[in-house]
Formats: sequence, structure tokens, C-alpha cells
Amino acid sequence: MNANSLQTPIVYLKGVGPNRAETLQSELGIHTFQDLLNLFPNRYIDKTHYYKIGQLQRSNADVQIVGKIVHLKTVEQKKGKRLVASFVDDTGEMELVWFRGQKWIRENIKLNTPYVIFGKCNWFNGKFSMPHPEMEPQKDHEQGLKIAMQPVYPSTEKLSNKGISNRMISKLVQQIFIETKGRFTETLSEKLLFELKLLPKSESLFNIHFPKNQELLAKAQYRLKFEELFYIQMQLIAKNMLHKKKIKGFNFDQVGTIFNEFYKNHLPFELTGAQKRVIKEIRGDLGSNAQMNRLLQGDVGSGKTIVAVMAMLLAIDNDFQACLMAPTEILANQHYTGISELLEGTGITCALLTGSVKKSARRPIHEQLESGELQILIGTHALLEDKVKFKNLGLAIVDEQHRFGVAQRSKLWHKNEIPPHILVMTATPIPRTLAMSLYGDLDVSTIDELPPGRKPIKTVHRFDSNRLKVFQFIRDEIKKGRQIYIVYPLIQESEALDYKDLMDGYESIARDFPMPDYQISIVHGQMKPADKDYEMERFVKGETQIMVATTVIEVGVNVPNASVMIIESAERFGLSQLHQLRGRVGRGADQSFCILMTSHKLSTEAKTRLQTMVQTNDGFEIAEVDLKLRGPGDIMGTQQSGVLNLKIADIVKDNDILKTARYHAMQILKDDPSLEKPENLVIRHAYSQLVKYKNIWNYIS
Ligand code: ADP
Ligand code: MG
Repeated sequence: MNANSLQTPIVYLKGVGPNRAETLQSELGIHTFQDLLNLFPNRYIDKTHYYKIGQLQRSNADVQIVGKIVHLKTVEQKKGKRLVASFVDDTGEMELVWFRGQKWIRENIKLNTPYVIFGKCNWFNGKFSMPHPEMEPQKDHEQGLKIAMQPVYPSTEKLSNKGISNRMISKLVQQIFIETKGRFTETLSEKLLFELKLLPKSESLFNIHFPKNQELLAKAQYRLKFEELFYIQMQLIAKNMLHKKKIKGFNFDQVGTIFNEFYKNHLPFELTGAQKRVIKEIRGDLGSNAQMNRLLQGDVGSGKTIVAVMAMLLAIDNDFQACLMAPTEILANQHYTGISELLEGTGITCALLTGSVKKSARRPIHEQLESGELQILIGTHALLEDKVKFKNLGLAIVDEQHRFGVAQRSKLWHKNEIPPHILVMTATPIPRTLAMSLYGDLDVSTIDELPPGRKPIKTVHRFDSNRLKVFQFIRDEIKKGRQIYIVYPLIQESEALDYKDLMDGYESIARDFPMPDYQISIVHGQMKPADKDYEMERFVKGETQIMVATTVIEVGVNVPNASVMIIESAERFGLSQLHQLRGRVGRGADQSFCILMTSHKLSTEAKTRLQTMVQTNDGFEIAEVDLKLRGPGDIMGTQQSGVLNLKIADIVKDNDILKTARYHAMQILKDDPSLEKPENLVIRHAYSQLVKYKNIWNYIS
């Protein structure tokens, strides 16, 4: 059967019919023969393995045991009766229990005859028992043993209610094998099969559904996982190559006086090796005739801003304008202040545009942008308004990209006829594993080195009961001239409650740290921007020693003198958020601290998060743990989780296969970009089928 006929609607499969077809569609997304063939079992029950009663563990799921029924009795219970058999082997005794169909069992079961029983075991009244076991006389069982491992398919309640059992699905899959004679078009090249010793397609599909033994099953799984990841990588890499070919960008071929002058005379510090490397990567893109689409990731405090500034200078050297967009006003203000300072004496013009910039101040900005007088514009999403028109925007930089939607980002593109180069900066390191599969179509630069002289932040976990000691520690640090953050969770669903926590916390801190010895700032999302700024300003200037806040301060805020971060109810924060918050301290020369406060009630996962924070300061390590804890969908948000809707592979567990797949996809496309070589025809065909049929049913239904 060729690939086309596998596109036959499932309703035409013998044994399906309109009702079942509809259930399969709505419950499992199965529209075609192909979809059913690609419904891979979640797990397998090993039918060649027999347990002894004496070996049973309370955690066993499904077990298969050989033994004899030695005794059968009916037990009266509140509602009806139950039939109980005592079942023995040479290691012990257990019970089999029936609540229904007792008459049939009584009439048909033979005592003292070997049976093979199969089912779920419970631990009940100090004994193992199995309700409603599947059972077969041992001699029948041995004759009928066709498959060693019984597949268990994904199921839903509705499926089982509608009578589409696991056995039924298995039978339908079998029907496809009968109709196709089990011959399926190969989708990987000879060369790949040979080099990686992969199982051919037909054999893989057979063994994934009807495994002959463990070894073949493992090989089938490997091959199908590889194939799945390989074609995702092919798509991503091909997209990236196409993008580079098709989307012309401005060519910044000058590294001119402005860049060089800044480098020689204005740079306030020596760049780290990582910063130099990343600037070089960006320079490569900007001078390559293709539009840059680069993600710059670097831990909090790794020095991304200076990289952004130097990239903007390259644009200006080539007579283009540049803009920098930040997700919050606080951050935009801070960028503006910091960057203006850096550019002092260079003659470069720079303006700030946010929601709270007055109308009268906006007009000159708009005009100067259109005339080209203004070279750099910094701001919030106010930059995206239609009124904001550039003379020639050459480079757009987006800070903290995960705060902006994709649609917003692409709006930046349409500010020109030729799209500006795009640099997206993020301090939420995307685990390498995930970056590869999600952003395979984006170029990624990484700053993996902190500026010299930073002392690693000391992180500890303290229980609420130790609060007095923590307060004493705060007093000591303030005496040394340091400033303190105290952060409360604020989560949308429980906003009112959280807000109360914050205010209660603020009051209790105000009691323990009374004026006039202590000054406290408070910042939260329900305040007016002007009030927020005022409170923030006081803290930045050092007029207040303590900043009580919600996570509004998470992003970007830079107060080098603040050296203690206290996170209340730390168990309620996600790992990457905790790490972001911690990144607010450790920016000056002093030893910094992060104190994670929690109650004694902690889930296992919360404990792992806290331990991870205590053990490491490395954002990438933290991101990897986060990925393992939460799974990829959650991390990237629902928007992108579609990409991760994998049928068989698991991005976290199958990371090695992913790397292999990416490597080979890259090699093949480098060597033969349009897949024209005879050896790649198989891949080309499979690839085009994939693209053709990928979403077709999603569009229709
Ligand atoms: P982030 O990557 O979090 O945006 P910033 O760009 O805000 O980090 O940099 C954090 C701090 O480190 C700033 O105060 C900046 O001036 C300083 N910094 C950046 N690069 C260096 C360097 N190479 N040497 C010393 N200090 C640096
Ligand atoms: Mg930053």
C-alpha cells in the first residue's frame, strides 16, 4: 500500500463504520488509516513474564500468574454477594474476586487445575487479591500465545464507554496490516538505515504494534522516534535556510567610526569573551545580505545590554535607525537611562517612548523619527503603534522576548518594506534540548559567562518559623548599608488573596522595621504607573532600604546596592521565576543572598525546585530541571506546544536521539539542499508527503 492510500478515511476500514469513526476522530484525532497506524502504544504488558505470588509488590500494576484454585466460596456483603477463590502457587496464596457473573464462574471453573490469570492486583485485608481476572487454562494459554507483549493504547473514558477497548484498537490496527499486507513505504534513506542500523519502516511499524520480543520493540521505538525527530529538524532547518535565501536584509557592511570610537573611548569595561563572541556572531549576520533573526540568551546579569548597544551602533554606522523594546515601563526607563549614559559624548540621539510619555512630548519624537534625526528609540510596546514611523529602521531589538507575543514581534517587521534585522534577548535560558527543537529555525547566540568579579549569590531555604532570625539578618545587612527586596507571589487566579498576603506582609514588616530608622518602598501591579515609579525611584536612589513587591520587579530592574532577595511563599513560584527574582541581587561587589521562605508543607516537586535553587546559580542547569519537572508544553506556553505534540519521541528523555537526528538532518541539507541526489529521493518524497498531509484534517474539521 502506498502512502496515498494510507490517507483513506478511517470510516472505510473494515470494522469501523460511521459511529466508531466519529469517536476515533473526536477522542484520538484519528481521521485516516495513517493516523491509526501512528497511534503508538503507551506501554506494553509482557505476556512472557510470570509472577510468583510470593514476589508480588503492592506497586505491581498488571501481573500474570500461574496457579490453581483450591477453594471457592460466596461471601455475603451489604450489597449482594461476592465470589472469592483462593488461588495458590508454590510460593503463596492470594484471592480472586468476582462481583458479577458468579454463576458462570461457579459452573465453569475447575478446581485444582493450572490456570494462567492476568489482571491488576490489590492489597486488601493483609492479602493480595485480583478482581475479575482474565483467566485461561494453562494448556490453552500456551497454545494461543501469539504475541509476547500486549500493547496498551492511549484511551479515554469516552472511548471505553463507547466500547472501543484496547483489544478493539489492536484488532483495527491488525486489520490495516491485513489490508496492506504489512508493507509500508520506506521513509528513510538506505544510507541512514545503514549508517544508524535502523529497522526498516514496515518492520518497525509491525513491532511497535505487535512486538515479537523486547529487543525488536526497542529497535522499532528507536527508529520511529528518530524518524519523528528527524523530520521535525528537516522542517526547521529547511525553513531557516529558505529564510536566509529569500528574506533579503539590509547589509551593514560598514564597521565604522561610531562603533570603533565607542569601543575605544566609551566602553566602561572590558567585554567578556562571551560578549565578544556574540557581537561577532551578530556582526556576521548583519553583513550577510540576509535578514537577521537571532535569539540572544544570557543569564540575568550576563551583560546583554551592552551587546544590544553595540549592535545598534553597527546600524547607525550604516545610516540606519535602531529600536529597543522592553516589556515594562520600569525596564524601558532603566534601559533608556543606562543607554543614554553609555552614549554620552558620542553625539548619538536617543529617545524614550512609553505609554506614559505625554502627547506633547510624543510629537517631536514622531517627527524626528520620520526625518531620521533620531537614531535610537527605546520603549515599551508603544513603539508598535501605527503612528510610530521610522525613516529607515535597520535593527529592532526585543528584550525579554517571552513577554511579547509572536504577533507583536512580527509587527516590528512591517515598519519597513525590507524587514529590519531582529535580535531577541532573553534571560530565561531555553534549555538546549528545547531550543533545538523549537527554535531550530532561529539562530541562537549564548552569553555563558558572567562579567568578572561577581560573587556567586548564596541561596538558602528557611521555614516561616525562622522568620525572627531572618529579620535579624535583614537588620544586620541594612546596618552594613545594603538594601533588601521582599517579594510576594501574585498569581492571577488568586489575586485578591495574594494581594491581602502582600498587604499583611507589608504591615508586619513595617512593624518590625519602624520609621524613622527604616524606610520601606512598596510596588505592586494595582498601583498607578506614576506611584510605582516614585516608589521605585526612592529605592533606586537608596532613600528606602526595603522594597516590598510582587513579581513586577522580576524583569530587568537593576539596583547594584541591593544584596538580599527574600522570596515569600517560595514554594508557589516556578523555577525560572525564582531564578529571575534571584537575579535582581548579586549585581554589585558585595556578597549577595537569596532567602527562600516557605511553610513546612511542601510537595515533592516544590522541594526539588528549592533544592535546585540552593544548589546552583546556573540558569541553564535550572532551565533543564524546570523542563524535566514541568514538561515542554508548559514552559513555552500553549502557543508553541503544538510543535511538541510528538507521537512517540519525548524531547527530554530522547535528547540523544534528537541530537543524532538534528546532526543528520543538517548534514543532508547542507550537502543537498533541495534533496535532489538519488540517495535522498526517499527523504524528499517522505518530506513532501508530510508537508502535504500534515495539517489537512485539522483544517477541515
Ligand atoms: P542582563 O544580561 O541581565 O541584561 P545587563 O546588561 O543589565 O545584564 O548587565 C548587568 C550589569 O553588568 C550592568 O551593570 C553592566 O554594566 C555590567 N556589565 C556588563 N558587561 C560587563 C563586563 N564585561 N564587565 C563588567 N561589567 C559588565
Ligand atoms: Mg537586561
